[in-house]
Amino acid sequence: MDLLQTSFNVSAGALDFLGHVEQLAYLLAALLFILALANLSKQKTAQLGNCLGICGMVVALASVIVVSVANDERAAVLAIVLVVFAMAIGAAIGVWHAVKVQMTEMPELVAKLHSFVGLSAVLVGYNSFFANPGAEGASSVFHMGEVGLAVFIGAVTFTGSIVAYLKLSGKISGKPLTLPGRNLINLAMLVASIALIAWFITTRSVEAGLVPLAILTVISLVLGAHLVLAIGGGDMPVVVSMLNSYSGWAAAMDGFTLGNDLLIITGALVGSSGAYLSYIMCQGMNRSFVSVILGGFGNGSSSAPAEDKDYGDYTETTAEEVAELLKRSKRVVITPGYGMAVAQAQFPVADLTKRLMAMGVDVKFGIHPVAGRMPGHMNVLLAEANVPYDCVYEMDEINDDFADVDTVLVIGANDTVNPSASEADSPIAGMPVLHVWEAHEVIVFKRSMGNAGYAGVQNPLFFNKNTKMLLADAKASVDAINAAL
Ligand code: NDP
Repeated sequence: MDLLQTSFNVSAGALDFLGHVEQLAYLLAALLFILALANLSKQKTAQLGNCLGICGMVVALASVIVVSVANDERAAVLAIVLVVFAMAIGAAIGVWHAVKVQMTEMPELVAKLHSFVGLSAVLVGYNSFFANPGAEGASSVFHMGEVGLAVFIGAVTFTGSIVAYLKLSGKISGKPLTLPGRNLINLAMLVASIALIAWFITTRSVEAGLVPLAILTVISLVLGAHLVLAIGGGDMPVVVSMLNSYSGWAAAMDGFTLGNDLLIITGALVGSSGAYLSYIMCQGMNRSFVSVILGGFGNGSSSAPAEDKDYGDYTETTAEEVAELLKRSKRVVITPGYGMAVAQAQFPVADLTKRLMAMGVDVKFGIHPVAGRMPGHMNVLLAEANVPYDCVYEMDEINDDFADVDTVLVIGANDTVNPSASEADSPIAGMPVLHVWEAHEVIVFKRSMGNAGYAGVQNPLFFNKNTKMLLADAKASVDAINAAL
């Protein structure tokens, strides 16, 4: 214990110097984070972006550890031991999760991770309050306001993320919970939270402050859970990126309560990029951000289609017939969806792409912004299988070209290629979709005609004259086409 309490006896001059080094390190880390985000926005540079983000985090952690250890004259060695111990536990859990997670489970994992950020904001807020309860003066007012906001945003993020995780993993129903007057309930909780933060700011002791803070925590926890419970499965992509944004703001509030500039910058970067992503996702699904927050849309089931409407007959095909069709095609577009992720068909799809390109066929990929179960899901899978970046196109870049395409392979996509989105009474009305039906021939890969897509809506595309259904697991089908080619 004596050894653990050994002091480093850092002189005041050295501490001052370390303070400057810390500020420089924070600036460097912030720049690295911004460069990481810029590079992550393009598939080609995404790996570099990841490396820059890791470097930024290493710089940030190293400077925080060195400076806080040098500042703590009582137990410098103990502080190092504790930090390293905590990081080792966190790293072990993180690596274990990263290795074991399936690509299709990524949104659940992301939601779980957001809940940790929310919980940490609540704990840091409480800790900061116990260390510095309310006092006279403007700085205390700001401090108490920051603590109140950190606890509020953190608690909403915490329970919201847990509910999102439970919904995405199917542990609770994806159906929206539509309590009568739910928007009024939310508004009442929001107003009560603001009033409680105002009360909290006026308190001058731990005992007095704990009452409004505890009530605020409970209300915020309920608000977070209720907000996400009211959101249906159809809007889950936006919720995931919205919670990403909340977790950023929660981290920024942590930065304010801890007086850590880097955490404020990083939190703001995550918060604003998450908000922008939510906006893009809303556009991708033709939903307004407010209507998503207010909830009540989408039943979240991927079971059988709800309506009984007769769409006519569909035509089945075989892998050999598709191979013949592809041999005759000059232009092919592949539109992957969630089913490609389930089947892990990206590797044979990459193989098929290479074969077709070698035969002189012009092959492109058309990626819908909400294809799969998380933002960028398809891009990640295609990059994993080393599909060349330059043949991967966003929906808007390729949607006008389908009329000139000989064959479209719809591999495990459903909602994102559903023409009924243009009908006003469709549950996915107004959602922009890939216009695959304009191509000469469309081949749809899915396992059976019984299941609908994520939104639970039947897809009239399957019954079109120029559509043929290849009903089997997507990986087995693509393998069979490769073999036939
Ligand atoms: P969908 O979920 O609409 O459809 C998936 C299709 O894949 C179904 O036709 C299914 O049919 C088929 N499929 C499933 N497993 C296999 C398999 N092993 N082999 C072959 N086919 C298979 O997919 P989309 O990508 O088109 O749409 C995504 C949907 O998910 C949208 O509604 C979007 O809003 C939502 N969403 C998106 C998120 C995101 O961030 N991207 C997050 C959460 C939801 P069958 O079962 O018969 O095989």
